Amino acid sequence: MASPAVRVRFAPSPTGFFHVGGARTALFNWLFARHHGGTNVLRIEDTDAERGREEWVAGILDALDWIGIDWDEGPFRQSERRHLYQKAAERLYAEGRAYWCECTRASIDERTKANATATPGYDGFCRERGLTGGEGRALRFRTPDEGSTAVADVIRGEPRFDHANLEDFVILRSDGSPVFLLANAVDDIDMSITHVIRGEDHLSNTPKTLLLWDALDGGPHPVFAHVPLLVNERGQKLSKRRDKVALEDYRDQGILPEAMRNYLGLLGWAPGDNREMLSVQEMVAEFRLEDVKSSPAFFDERKLLHFNGEYIRALPVDEFVTAARPFLDAGSWATGDFDESAFEALAPLVQERVRTLAEVPAMVDFLFLSQAPIEDKAWDKRVVRGAAAAELLAGAADAYGSCEWSATALHEVTATLGEAHGLGLAKAQFPIRVAVTGRDVGPPLFESLVVLGRERSLERLRSALARLEG
Ligand code: GLU
Repeated sequence: MASPAVRVRFAPSPTGFFHVGGARTALFNWLFARHHGGTNVLRIEDTDAERGREEWVAGILDALDWIGIDWDEGPFRQSERRHLYQKAAERLYAEGRAYWCECTRASIDERTKANATATPGYDGFCRERGLTGGEGRALRFRTPDEGSTAVADVIRGEPRFDHANLEDFVILRSDGSPVFLLANAVDDIDMSITHVIRGEDHLSNTPKTLLLWDALDGGPHPVFAHVPLLVNERGQKLSKRRDKVALEDYRDQGILPEAMRNYLGLLGWAPGDNREMLSVQEMVAEFRLEDVKSSPAFFDERKLLHFNGEYIRALPVDEFVTAARPFLDAGSWATGDFDESAFEALAPLVQERVRTLAEVPAMVDFLFLSQAPIEDKAWDKRVVRGAAAAELLAGAADAYGSCEWSATALHEVTATLGEAHGLGLAKAQFPIRVAVTGRDVGPPLFESLVVLGRERSLERLRSALARLEG
């Protein structure tokens, strides 16, 4: 029998900033769909009337666009499909698969407390009461008391859940709104989803989904793939409060979308030979759910930065210049003082030295500020404070006044100056770099001096000397 065409969906709930975990799930769905020539559906699970959710929805769409994930159907909005959930709930009630319940949280808790041996969760108090719907009543799904449900999961084998441990769960709240489980199952049936790829935190919900699925005659079950949790360096689940998890923070920091996508792709998955730098075409060609691991995936920001540096270095210079521009627009100099050609002259050298685009302005601000910025951590270094530094600066101010203004000549003159003080080139350069650029790291010094120009360089050497002597 030919297997049905692959149909997957990414189904985010717009409840906050778009999370790196969501982006990884979106990417795995997309890779799987593209690998199989299938259909990728985007479904916004917005049944909770959440404040500000429009802004979160926009954030999701923007973020997906940024990392280059597109979809073939949707975006569907659950808030516009409530009639379907209502209809399904009515059917389940009419067929005796669901019942109305008037228990409040407090009354359930009280009974649970009184009966220490009760299994946690709802005790079925209203199960046989034959209540009809009305004010303050929720609709509960009647779970079977016996037997079990197995979840076919490509990543986790076939976990089996005993029905005895599944409470009669709510499908319509007392305000009439559908619960996630109902809307989710109804939509997956309606959208003919064949593979459900989602976070591991949903695994325990899945037997409930499948009970609803069968009660609604959903047909063959989809195949599940519960992708592993993302954890921080201490093995803790990534959390909004503790960790940097919003995709847009990474974008604002100057992570390239290609680097982010490559990195996200490796959170739980790796191609057979463990290569790490993969083009998107390679990821599509090689992505297999069977290769996704079940153990938690470490979201390693340092590794992401390393990836990003590699991606930045691989850019053609003109693309690097374009990508850096929005970050330069936020530079600390007066807008009119930016000099495009000066930046372009140093760009290839800067490109070699940054891990994010947000690091670019500090590498070149000395070119656009009227004076060198003063970075205390650079000025406080011994090599700058020491007696030799003042002599070096004075010597440089003198020698740079008359030598040829080229990187080679400046290199030579500075090396000679260093030798006279018993210093190697690196040590000799250091106070000069701090004097002229204000910083202790940056693009190569002599090229920087060339672009800055002789007059401005000399001026900065002199004011640094004054600062040291003052
Ligand atoms: N809306 C759910 C979430 O954002 C996802 C549910 C699913 O993928 O089945 O966690």
